[in-house]
Amino acid sequence: MFLSVFDVFKIGVGPSSSHTMGPMTAANRFLELILSDEWPRPAGAHVTALKASLHGSLAYTGIGHGTGNAVIIGLMGEAPDKVDPDRMDEIIAEVERTGRVTPPGHPGYNFKPKDDLVYDKKTPLPGHANAMRLTALDRDGRVLLTQVYFSIGGGFVVTETELLAMQKNKKAASTQKVPYPFASAKEMLTMAASSGLSIAQMKRANEEAVMDRATLDAGLDRIWDAMSGCIDRGLKQDGRLPGGLNVRRRARSIHDKLQEEWRSNRQNPLLANDWLSVYAMAVNEENAAGGRVVTSPTNGAAGVVPATVRYYLHFHPEADQEGVRDYLLTAAAIGGIIKHNASISGAEVGCQGEVGSASAMAAAGLAAVMGGSPEQIENAAEIALEHHLGMTCDPIAGLVQVPCIERNALGAVKAVTAASLAMKGDGEHFVPLDACIETMRQTGNDMNEKYKETSLGGLAVNVVEC
Ligand code: SF4
Repeated sequence: MFLSVFDVFKIGVGPSSSHTMGPMTAANRFLELILSDEWPRPAGAHVTALKASLHGSLAYTGIGHGTGNAVIIGLMGEAPDKVDPDRMDEIIAEVERTGRVTPPGHPGYNFKPKDDLVYDKKTPLPGHANAMRLTALDRDGRVLLTQVYFSIGGGFVVTETELLAMQKNKKAASTQKVPYPFASAKEMLTMAASSGLSIAQMKRANEEAVMDRATLDAGLDRIWDAMSGCIDRGLKQDGRLPGGLNVRRRARSIHDKLQEEWRSNRQNPLLANDWLSVYAMAVNEENAAGGRVVTSPTNGAAGVVPATVRYYLHFHPEADQEGVRDYLLTAAAIGGIIKHNASISGAEVGCQGEVGSASAMAAAGLAAVMGGSPEQIENAAEIALEHHLGMTCDPIAGLVQVPCIERNALGAVKAVTAASLAMKGDGEHFVPLDACIETMRQTGNDMNEKYKETSLGGLAVNVVEC
């Protein structure tokens, strides 16, 4: 099994990888399909109009997650990693005003969001909780082409056929040609022992089987620059987050207090925790505001890894750029194993799959740059994931704000604690990471649907919106 570090860490926009980035990408893919020869086009038929329907979790929490807007932006030909977040409102207003989408290279299609974009809560589509259907019609309203896409978490999008193939070929995927195709933590440890390489070195060798070293390093640096830029922007913003909950941004004021404390040399026994928390909150406030973020492994959990990397640079005197690269490679190795064997999607397994996975990835990355052995790294990831097991996804009003912003802060704190605990041991421990991942998968399967990104349970129904 090989999942590139650039599939785990993807630059995009908030607030959600599965509910914003995925649907935007699906709309891009549908536009490509329209222009392709991959469908039986009746002679003389021309696509003149488009329709979109959102199903399952995309329908339930789509408004809060900006899913409809993401579809509109995607149908305008904009991609998550390229679109300017500051221009998105303008693009949506233009489509609403004209009733047309005009992606580059296309003739332009009728698409009135009010009529042609449907949040269908009554018809879940079999296959996955995050489903959407895109349809192309001719001038007489005849359906020419229709395609279902599933947004399976972390910004990944598949068609029905691809989903079936993925489910069937899980085993086949593990034979992809890379030197260390570990599909489980056990295989990872065995390969590390026989090769004498660290997890980061094995992951690097896998990546370098498909790209050269300079491309890999430049890509890793770009990912960290985007993460770091997101922290810095979040620390400068003030005011209330969009969406109607009236949630106040807090990262800036907390950061001001911490800086004052830092300058005055005041003793604070929770110093590291406070810095970790403010970095994570800065990212997730940016995510909630629809800003530029990096999936790590999702948008909802995008604060954990950047916060712990910034903590490493801030508090570890030996920290350097090479360390950041190893950190990201190790974290991606763990994220890939979790995604392959369970899920990183809140709509599939609850928040244990999002913030829990992010915390495990961050703990592993930190243990790696602290000089941990592969066993200590695996132990760090396991501790972090184990103590998120059972965590539900219950965002209030479907917005990725409460509990998500603080949850990332706590995920980062747990990651650092897990790494520290693992580094105090010799790597031998009771619960293997693979068992923990399997437990997360089973717990997610058994979890009531209302706790899986539908906003029909938990905090979402017990806190009165004002
Ligand atoms: S509760 Fe967790 S899984 Fe759900 S939207 Fe928030 S961060 Fe994502």
